[in-house]
This record gives sequence, structure tokens and C-alpha cells, in this order.
Amino acid sequence: MASVRGARPDAIGGVVPAEVVEPATADEVAEVLRSTRGSVVPVGAGTKTGWAAPPSACDVLLRTTGLDRIVEHEPGDLVAVAEAGVTLDAFQRRLAEHGQMLALDPPEEGATLGGIVGANASGPRRLRYGTVRDLLIGVTVVLADGTTARSGGKVVKNVAGYDLGKLYTGAHGGLGVVVSTSWRLHPLPKAAGAVVLPVGDAEAAGRLAAAVARSTLTPTAVELSFVAGGRGELVVLFESIEASVRAQSATALALLGGGEERAEVPDWFGRRPEGPLVVRLAYAPAALPDVLAALPDGASGTASACTGVAYAALPGEADLDALRAAITPYDGSAVVLAARGPLDAAAHWGPVADSFGLMTRVKDQFDPARRLSPGRLLGGL
Ligand SMILES: Cc1cc2nc3c(=O)[nH]c(=O)nc-3n(C[C@H](O)[C@H](O)[C@H](O)COP(=O)(O)OP(=O)(O)OC[C@H]3O[C@@H](n4cnc5c(N)ncnc54)[C@H](O)[C@@H]3O)c2cc1C
Repeated sequence: MASVRGARPDAIGGVVPAEVVEPATADEVAEVLRSTRGSVVPVGAGTKTGWAAPPSACDVLLRTTGLDRIVEHEPGDLVAVAEAGVTLDAFQRRLAEHGQMLALDPPEEGATLGGIVGANASGPRRLRYGTVRDLLIGVTVVLADGTTARSGGKVVKNVAGYDLGKLYTGAHGGLGVVVSTSWRLHPLPKAAGAVVLPVGDAEAAGRLAAAVARSTLTPTAVELSFVAGGRGELVVLFESIEASVRAQSATALALLGGGEERAEVPDWFGRRPEGPLVVRLAYAPAALPDVLAALPDGASGTASACTGVAYAALPGEADLDALRAAITPYDGSAVVLAARGPLDAAAHWGPVADSFGLMTRVKDQFDPARRLSPGRLLGGL
């Protein structure tokens, strides 16, 4: 087998693996899973390893970066197939040659397609295009016992059987190793423009976001950068043909009662905040002002203002339990993406949801010996 084996000081969530393998093909991935009795934790480029709890064990760290082939691109059908280790950048470059794109914009530099699926990573454009689950039309995975399973395919309409791609999305490698991905593509927009305006407080942020959401505008993204209390800057991004961008920008300026048109988005747009403790907040979209008001002093971050998702950097000593309790009435959750030291699964994910019984049964079905990314998911699964 062509994969490289050997002890390396790679650690995941502070846990040092006994061995690191870098398979170059799906068959080699299958061979690793068949020949290893212990725990296996798949990673791509390692840009989001803090997004799940640290593994309870890691005998083998399986790096997928060697699976780096773009297998197929059918520009006429707006679909493409690429192996899990292909970086989003490389994929976008290839698609752009044909005036197309994968409409996902998570900011982590060097992220692989497999890692983006495993972590369910998205960025500001989720408002217009949806997230991984909306764009992933098929996956090939290697299961815990080394068998290879394919779900979905290369057609956008997929009515046969279960759509397992949705299950693997956000499963952090706990249900199988994704080796190949099929995607629905979009044409690259011909023109872009942004309306940018300052926001005074949390209440104003909520009011402005709601005004855009209720309007006939079709922005690609509505992003807010904020400090605790809600003061910040709102960006409404339009991507379309030139005439539509101009007309929509004019309508937005009138609707929002101010702001300025800019050809480019501000530097902070699409970046995740950095700090000692970074959380991803999800909540009912109308609760944006309440969620901003619940953040502790010293917090800052960005919110996808019309979708109910925000990323916040909190002071290291912030009380996560208090924050979670304050946003629970708004269907809110706070999941840790980065922490100064390792957190156990309970502190990482927060309260276990009602769906935990179902998640446990799914985990038991796919990985009965609990060998894949053990302990990384909600409830220590
Ligand atoms: C066996 C198994 C275990 C999994 N374990 C986890 C896990 O531990 N954590 C995880 O995020 N995904 C887990 N997933 C993936 C899960 O199915 C979804 O990907 C994820 O919970 C939904 O987040 P989202 O970003 O896709 O959607 P979003 O649009 O962000 O959220 C969808 C809804 O879920 C709520 N929500 C999101 N995350 C949480 C949370 N941690 N606690 C309470 N409510 C929440 C949001 O408030 C929202 O109402 C698991 C999947 C499987 C199969």
C-alpha cells in the first residue's frame, strides 16, 4: 500500500495519535479500516479539528489530503465529483475555468471538501444558496468495517432511497470516512455590489435584518459584524447581473434609510472571529437582537443576520452555561469551535437534544464498535 505510516506528533484536540496514515486512494482507506482494530479519526487539512469535542481515543489519525483528484466535471449538467482531500480553493479554480462555482464559502484556508462535509461548514452565502446539505448530491464513504458505500450520484434530483449525504454532513467522521463527494454547482455571478451601513445597537440590527428578510430583495448574504450590545456594521451583498445589482442596491439604500454602496465587501466579511473561546450560535432568526443582548461583555463576532447563525469570540472566562440558558428560549444553541484548553463533550456541545436517542441508534448502526471519531459528537458519541 502506498500510504505513509509512522508515528508523528500530530495531535487532535490534545490527543496524540499512535499512528498517522495518509492513504492516496479509497481502496487504501478501506484497507486501513479493515486492518486496524482500534479507533480511527479522519481529518482533512485539520482546519476545523476544534469544531468537535476531542476524541476519547485516537489509535490512527487518517489524513485524507492524498485523495486529491477532481474526478469529473460536467459543466452542462452543473455537477462535479471530487475526492475528499481536494481543497475548496483547488475545486473552485477548476470550476471557474467554466464560469461555475460550488456556492459554499467557509473561510478556513486550505479546507478540504471532506472536512467541509464532516464539519458542515458554510459561510455568508448560505442565505442564498443553502449549506452543504443543499449542495451535496452524493457521497462515497468507507464504513467502519472497511466496506465502501455510495449514496446519491451525479443528478441533482435524487429520489431513490435515503440521502445519506445529509447524515454524513456534520457527523465529524463518526459514521464513516467520506472519500468522494458529488456537488450541485452554480454559475459564477457576473457582477457584485454591497450596501454597507453602521448599526447602533442590537435592536437596530434585528430591525434592519427583518426589513431585508421581508422585502422582495434577493441578497446573496446579509452579514453583521458586532461587538457585545449589538453595535456594528451591516453588509447586504448582491450578486447577479449588473443591472440587477444596481437596482437592488438602490432599493436597499431606500429600505434601510442609509448606508453606502461599495464595490467590495469590508475585510471582516466572511471571516470567523478569533479569540480564547469561539462559539457558533444557532437560534430562531427573529431572535437576533435577544441573542446579541445575551452575549457577555467583551464578545464580538459576525452574524448571518437573516439565517439565525452567528460566530462569536468570547472572553476566556465567559460562562457558557449562562449563555446557553439565556438563549434556550430562542431555540438557541452554542457549540464551541475553539477553546484555550480541551473541553469534554458536554461542555463542547451543550445540552443533549431530544434527538439523542435517534443519533445513538444511527451511530450504533454505522459504527457498532464505536471506533470512528469516538467521543467527538454530542453526548460523547
Ligand atoms: C450520530 C450523530 C451524531 C451527531 N452529533 C452531532 C453533535 O453532537 N452536534 C452537532 O452539531 N451535530 C451532530 N450531528 C450532526 C447533526 O445531525 C446536524 O448536523 C447538526 O446538529 C445540525 O446543525 P446544522 O449546522 O446542520 O443546522 P443548523 O441550521 O445550525 O441547526 C439546525 C437546528 O438544530 C439546532 N442545533 C444545532 N446544533 C445544536 C446543538 N448542538 N444542540 C442543540 N440544538 C442544536 C439549531 O438551533 C437549529 O434549530 C450528528 C449526526 C449524527 C448522525
